[in-house]
Amino acid sequence: INFADLGLAEPLLRAVNDTGYTAPTPIQAQAIPQVMKGGDLLAAAQTGTGKTAGFTLPILHRLLNKPLASMKAGRPRCLILTPTRELTAQVEESVQVYGKHTSLRSMVMFGGVNINPQISALRKPVDILVATPGRLLDHAQQKTIDLSGVEILVLDEADRMLDMGFIRDIRRILALLPKTRQNLLFSATFSDEIRELAKGVLNDPQEISV
Ligand code: AMP
Repeated sequence: INFADLGLAEPLLRAVNDTGYTAPTPIQAQAIPQVMKGGDLLAAAQTGTGKTAGFTLPILHRLLNKPLASMKAGRPRCLILTPTRELTAQVEESVQVYGKHTSLRSMVMFGGVNINPQISALRKPVDILVATPGRLLDHAQQKTIDLSGVEILVLDEADRMLDMGFIRDIRRILALLPKTRQNLLFSATFSDEIRELAKGVLNDPQEISV
């Protein structure tokens, strides 16, 4: 199997080609078709498996293939939650790399830095927001972000988010999202707490493990 067999849009295939990857990794081969068709996903995957491209590529594909719900400022269509500043930066870098031949826009948001530049950035349209939970909630409370347009939610490294005590923030964020949406959950480990979170968030997910 190669990337073209997966049916990804041409600008995405070109970006993959630019990276020099020859074939999808096992998690990509499984996750990409499921996410492309709009299904939920529960994935057991460590860093290094290619999981980031495994969700970024099909998300970009879906956002490209649906007419823009709105180009309103500060109203993302995809929300990717990660536990740390470093991971938000890494994931957004992947979004940039794989989305470089598209006009989709992304942005990162994390705590521990001045909130004002983030507020300015949110005055522009954004398709994909990569955020840590605490700072995202700060923006939601200040109404500098509108989460009512989120069509796709990703919980990346969900086990680390729970270890870092983000469960209450995550639950508060979930309450602000539209009920009908696509949900992807990635975790290296599966504790009872993760299973419970997954049960509450995911609808009839495909389960994959690599
Ligand atoms: P991740 O598990 O998402 O952190 O990705 C780990 C590394 O694998 C990153 O440096 C990617 O650039 C690289 N990578 C992702 N997909 C592929 C692929 N299909 N072939 C080769 N390398 C890849």
